[in-house]
Amino acid sequence: MINIKVVVIGGGAAGFFAALSVKQHHADAHVTILEGSNKILSKVKVSGGGRCNVTHSAFNIKDLLHHYPRGGAYLKKAFRTFAVNDTVGWFMERGLVLKTEADGRMFPVTDDSQSVIDLFMGEAKQKDIELLKSWKVKELKWIEDLRLWEVRGEDNSIRADKIIVAAGGSPKSEGFDWLRQVGHTVVPPVPSLFTFNFADSSICVLAGVSTQQVKVRVQGTQHESIGPVLITHWGLSGPAVLRTSAFAARHLQEVGYAFHLQINWLGDVDEETWRASVDWGAVVPSRKKIINENPTPLPTRLWEWLVERSGITSEKRWIDLGKKERNRLLNVLTNDVYEVQGKTTFKEEFVTAGGIDLTEVDPMTSKSKQAPELYFAGEVMDIDGVTGGFNFQAAWTTAWIAGQLK
Ligand SMILES: Cc1cc2nc3c(=O)[nH]c(=O)nc-3n(C[C@H](O)[C@H](O)[C@H](O)COP(=O)(O)OP(=O)(O)OC[C@H]3O[C@@H](n4cnc5c(N)ncnc54)[C@H](O)[C@@H]3O)c2cc1C
Repeated sequence: MINIKVVVIGGGAAGFFAALSVKQHHADAHVTILEGSNKILSKVKVSGGGRCNVTHSAFNIKDLLHHYPRGGAYLKKAFRTFAVNDTVGWFMERGLVLKTEADGRMFPVTDDSQSVIDLFMGEAKQKDIELLKSWKVKELKWIEDLRLWEVRGEDNSIRADKIIVAAGGSPKSEGFDWLRQVGHTVVPPVPSLFTFNFADSSICVLAGVSTQQVKVRVQGTQHESIGPVLITHWGLSGPAVLRTSAFAARHLQEVGYAFHLQINWLGDVDEETWRASVDWGAVVPSRKKIINENPTPLPTRLWEWLVERSGITSEKRWIDLGKKERNRLLNVLTNDVYEVQGKTTFKEEFVTAGGIDLTEVDPMTSKSKQAPELYFAGEVMDIDGVTGGFNFQAAWTTAWIAGQLK
């Protein structure tokens, strides 16, 4: 392919990576990135708290796939072409070394998202990629006689042999209308990655208290996660909550974010196991007050609060604890229920679930099955991951594949 003209729509993570991939696979191609706003790579800049969580050290594809509420089956195929090791290698080859934190998140060693932006900008300049800002695409028109696309903006247009759409997610369904017009179905967008607001905020006196291994479940569903949680001024946050919000995103939107959250404060340990595992013989004869002798791994303040929630007074001693009270305590520890009413956007990282229906895109090529010479990359598709670098990984993978222009 000589001197083909490629237009990439969107100057975000996926758009830049796709443009660079085009030049890597087709050095002679003329590549133009059209960015609707006057800022490029704006999400990369703020991502990961300004450090850019580029990917996650899930080098095994099976493990990696556990982190995508939507798009797993599609990515299973796509990751065969480009996965975490390829991302790490891509950045490393260009002089940007990534480091892995204890929880698996990978960041540039510089701890600065600007290094990713500088790398992309430097590469784009060196490879003569044209960048047009404030160029918002309104319509795409395929001209069959010329076998070309006409990309139309507000009062301008540009022609291309091939188009890569990397326009990101849209919280509003109308944001995808120009893609519906070329024959694509859009899975309606819904928010993902949010925290839960409790109807009764009494637990919020503990705002700031976190604990490591808690199981949360949307009552009446299979949506559950185990991991750290953080009590906030409005309810509950933390990785286990965010993960649950992502996997249950569509269900929770349907119920208007009004549901019951079941909490096992002891994680995977159920009531019977806990009853059997605690050395009650040692605890119960204790003359100490229950609130002062905490046999759980929970933080003291949370333990005190849960004891009180069980209806046990602060003066009660272990030795005076009756069987019914012990059962109530065990029930609160392992099967606590809170009414959730509403959500709060998680400010660090949020994504939109929904987008281009994946059945209409070939995962091996990122190519549209509905329209000619049209490719997709990044969050514009119905793919989203939980926090931890998985969203960028999906962007790199789909963009790299799209840039092959197969
Ligand atoms: C605050 C925040 C922090 C995050 N941190 C992380 C993180 O650390 N790790 C991680 O993996 N994920 C993170 N994410 C998610 C991640 O940023 C996104 O998944 C990723 O940016 C998606 O890349 P994209 O290129 O597909 O879309 P975007 O980054 O949204 O880029 C799309 C671009 O297309 C442009 N565009 C849209 N429509 C048009 C049009 N019609 N014409 C022309 N241009 C158009 C937009 O202006 C935008 O610049 C974070 C998200 C947020 C909001």
